[in-house]
Amino acid sequence: MLFHLGEMVTATASVADEVLELLGNEMNYNVQVVSPEEEDRELLDSFDISFGDEGDEEDWVVRPPVVTIMGHVDHGKTRLLDTIRKANVREGEAGGITQHIGAYQVQTELEGEERPITFIDTPGHEAFTAMRARGAKSTDIAVIVVAADDGVMPQTVEAINHAQAADVPIVVAVNKIDVEGANPAKIRQQLTEYNLVAEEYGGDTMFVDISAKQGTNIDQLLEAILLTADAALDLRANPNMEAQGVTIEGHLDRGRGPVATVLVQRGTLRVGDSIVAGDASGRVRRMVDEYGDDVTEALPSRPVQVIGLTSVPGAGDTFLVVDEDRVARQIADRRRARERNAELASRRKRVSLEDLDAALKETSTLNLIIKGDNSGTVEALEDALMKLDVGEDVELRVIHRGVGGITEGDINLAIADNVIVMGFNVRAEGKATELANREGVEIRYYSVIYQAIEEIEQALKGMLKPEYEEVELGRAEVREVFKSSKFGTIAGCLVMSGEIRRNARGRLLRDSVVIADNLPISSLRRFKDDVVEVREGFECGLTLGSYSDIKVDDVIETFEMREKPRA
Ligand code: GDP
Repeated sequence: MLFHLGEMVTATASVADEVLELLGNEMNYNVQVVSPEEEDRELLDSFDISFGDEGDEEDWVVRPPVVTIMGHVDHGKTRLLDTIRKANVREGEAGGITQHIGAYQVQTELEGEERPITFIDTPGHEAFTAMRARGAKSTDIAVIVVAADDGVMPQTVEAINHAQAADVPIVVAVNKIDVEGANPAKIRQQLTEYNLVAEEYGGDTMFVDISAKQGTNIDQLLEAILLTADAALDLRANPNMEAQGVTIEGHLDRGRGPVATVLVQRGTLRVGDSIVAGDASGRVRRMVDEYGDDVTEALPSRPVQVIGLTSVPGAGDTFLVVDEDRVARQIADRRRARERNAELASRRKRVSLEDLDAALKETSTLNLIIKGDNSGTVEALEDALMKLDVGEDVELRVIHRGVGGITEGDINLAIADNVIVMGFNVRAEGKATELANREGVEIRYYSVIYQAIEEIEQALKGMLKPEYEEVELGRAEVREVFKSSKFGTIAGCLVMSGEIRRNARGRLLRDSVVIADNLPISSLRRFKDDVVEVREGFECGLTLGSYSDIKVDDVIETFEMREKPRA
């Protein structure tokens, strides 16, 4: 039936959604195409699990806000995260927060009450948007950092847009007030344009002037976060259920195996729980907090590092606790199978008869496999690469990505197509290098993101067909026309500008209108001698191939096609 519909496919090939719907119609089936999210919901349904169910309202208790710090580069996001981390020395802890696990919690006193705030420890909106793109809402409040000596910049605006689009309340931290010339009032003024009006001007956004470097007003900033949370949000969650939440980051640890930092959003996560995160499953063997201490249970808004998964989940993957290891494993297996099918489908080229023509002059594609040491960097790298734009003729496709060393499996995947395997802070394991060498698969290693991006951009540009541009060489005016039985029509010319070169291309203009184009300057003479070029101010005789319609006062323009360097 598909052949009749003009689709050349084999029994195991993937086809487009529309083709399936068409096929369904032909066969009297009603085909419904579901999104990956719907499919996942159905998968969980089949185990009688519902992600996002918050349980009974009477069980809900107040939970701490989860905060992401965003803003323009160099405005002090990292420094602020550092300062907050260091300012919060827990009682009995010598060094304060010592472990970078991807998020941390600090205690703040508000109206005599100790209240925690959770900070996502990755500055910038990349992580925020990556998670949002997967439908995981991890952030309750956005702190937008603006340097008072610099003002509102493009990424400031981007961050504000992201927060507002996600309906996340904003607290503005006006940073670097210690710098001479800092003008916090100007920042307030600039931000009114983006609907962020300071309370002191009658608006409802809290602005706090801080110095992340000197630790000025950090307490006030933390208070403003809590006050904003109390005013704008009703942050409550049910601790009395099996834990659910989102993965913040994951990596492969040499000693401990797969390690993932998760943020509990509802329920209580306990050591011993069976858990599934994305397509990774396992049992929580240990949980470690940002102080490096073991914890036995984690309540809502609590970030913890989980040890015991059998593989590394991706940043933004949701996690949930299930009754039994078996269920966790089955869900993970099903998700992995689905992922693999999707990967295969995106690799396989569909060629229908109509497409065949297009396929023949098809755009070239550079396929990539990205392996890295943690899911955050792999995603950041993929994101940045997908943003590369070198025009429509070449296309970049990431056919596989993952955390960990480059395996034989990766190389096998790469053999099929024009694939470059990228290792970011990871190396090839076992026989992978040998296999790659034997099969001619290119592996490139990186440890700096921008370098990786630059090289891939160069590779893409290298795949572009050369582009040519016309460069004008010279102009000559026709003063006399001779007919010769041997040479045909000869134009006696005076070179007005530039030079006329033999074998260059020329066009003939009459009263500024192009009469003939792309003619060869096939012979060029000064007096009786053949010459290669004639310069401005000199006379010459030339022929334009066999073209004969040349008149006195015509202008001959010559040009050359040169390969254009890529921007
Ligand atoms: P990010 O790109 O937003 O993460 O910015 P960083 O936190 O890396 O800060 C950029 C630079 O600004 C660093 O050299 C910081 O030391 C400096 N910086 C950050 N906060 C302050 C501040 O409050 N005052 C001053 N004078 N410098 C700061």
